[in-house]
Amino acid sequence: MRLMWEELCGISNNMLKAWLVAGDFNDIVYAKEKRGGVIASIRRCSKFRERVNACNLIDMGVMGPKFTWRGPIYHGGQRIYERLDRALCNEKWRLSYPDGFVKVLTRVEFSDHRPILISPKESPYIKAPIQFKFESAWLLDDTYKEELSIIQHVDIPNDLYGARVCDLVDAHGNWNWALLQNWMPNQLQHKIAAVVPPHSDNGRDEQLGVGGKFGEFSVATMYNKLRGFNKTDADPVWNRIWKLGVTERVRSFVWLVKWDRLLTNSVKNRMGLSSSVCQYCGGQEETCIHVLCDCPLAHEFWKQIVPEFGETETRCSMV
Ligand SMILES: [Zn+2]
Repeated sequence: MRLMWEELCGISNNMLKAWLVAGDFNDIVYAKEKRGGVIASIRRCSKFRERVNACNLIDMGVMGPKFTWRGPIYHGGQRIYERLDRALCNEKWRLSYPDGFVKVLTRVEFSDHRPILISPKESPYIKAPIQFKFESAWLLDDTYKEELSIIQHVDIPNDLYGARVCDLVDAHGNWNWALLQNWMPNQLQHKIAAVVPPHSDNGRDEQLGVGGKFGEFSVATMYNKLRGFNKTDADPVWNRIWKLGVTERVRSFVWLVKWDRLLTNSVKNRMGLSSSVCQYCGGQEETCIHVLCDCPLAHEFWKQIVPEFGETETRCSMV
């Protein structure tokens, strides 16, 4: 306890900003903050008050029930009740939030302490402004741990902190690659390239009500409705992609290939970002089919895995 207060005093003496500390201090300020059991020690109460004062902290007071903690039932069926939980703030906090208050809430089943609510404003309905921010969390995809580790090492440029998704779209409704390509790992650029950017030319969000055969909600029906097709006219390639006996990651990759969403030099060139020539063979345009099949480097690779690749006119039938 002594160490805690020494530490709090240390923080307090160096604290220039609004500061509030709250929780179970395991002490009471006055004897009347305890009911039941032996009478509270006056000396202990004054020690607590001294410590609070030494830290230049102000007790924020409380609304609601007087006691925040109840002790176990002891002989005679009585309990001890005390106000152990409180919020203390410095002057700056009090001046910054003159309407701030502390409310003791209803006790929850699993604890002998009542929760306390600290609000900087008097209004019981405090709404944060709704903002859609571009942050690293936006890029998180828990499917791929390795991407996660990449993201942890990515430094998002300062001027993009707080940027909204629509700030990353150019006047033509395309992703503004100039803002992303210098710092974002390729894999993530690929993922973003596969997402249709938010733009009025790309359609508006719509709310749809969709029911399955028996009127219940189903993700499959919703998806079909959104994609605008039913089972009979679905491209059979889709079924082949999603039924491939490979990992989800490979399926996603094939999906990107099918939609020509790999960030090849050919695609980058269409965005005005680079030359379309393959940097490995230096001769041809780097398209999807070039990367996967036609590039001499890819050709060599496939020949090692599928020896008959070079002998017959085997091509990537999927694409
Ligand atoms: Zn090539």
